[in-house]
Amino acid sequence: MQTITIALSKGRIFKETLPLLAHADIIPLDDPESSRKLILDTNQEHIKLVIIRATDVPTYVQYGAADIGVAGKDVLLEHGGQGLYEPIDLGIAKCKLMTAGPMDAEINYFEQGKKIRVATKFVNVAKRFYAEKGVQAEVIKLYGSMELAPIVNLADRIVDVVDTGNTLKANGLKPMEHIADISSRLVVNKASMKMKHDEMHHLIKKISEAV
Ligand code: AMP
Repeated sequence: MQTITIALSKGRIFKETLPLLAHADIIPLDDPESSRKLILDTNQEHIKLVIIRATDVPTYVQYGAADIGVAGKDVLLEHGGQGLYEPIDLGIAKCKLMTAGPMDAEINYFEQGKKIRVATKFVNVAKRFYAEKGVQAEVIKLYGSMELAPIVNLADRIVDVVDTGNTLKANGLKPMEHIADISSRLVVNKASMKMKHDEMHHLIKKISEAV
């Protein structure tokens, strides 16, 4: 049998993907939370898991370093999705990608008549969103704690994933514009889908049944 490599990130995605893999009779032999191994064996000799940063999952799958992976739609929108099929919405880790700003902010860019500054780790998503609205936006890349940016006048707005909105509220911000509904997706390397068709087809079918 040909080897199948599955790319997953630690934490929520790993935990919520485990039952789906179990339905395909795939059980990891190590727990990534306690093991330092980056490649985990499973009960099936030809199936390996690679444990990587969530934002790296689409890249590994795009280049065929992993045949299949699980990534949030937010990460996929930012990556662009080149070289990937996205066959299944796993319906897990749901949230929304939104713009947010100070409590007293209004959605009226043109009255401001100036370029707005937007802090985010979703630089491509933010640029696309404001370009489509015809709003001039200077997008500042951050790697975390986006909520801080408007408080310290680094930015007028942030683009971030929002679940309950409690984190925004705790920092004096409010959600403003909806950009996309987010959930985790199964992504598949296009070449693997052809070259390893039978194994991949079986795995996708099993995971899709579990969903
Ligand atoms: P909230 O419930 O809106 O306060 O969200 C708590 C924090 O978790 C926020 O900073 C979000 O960035 C993050 N978050 C919430 N849901 C998700 C998700 N499904 N995937 C990734 N990050 C999330």
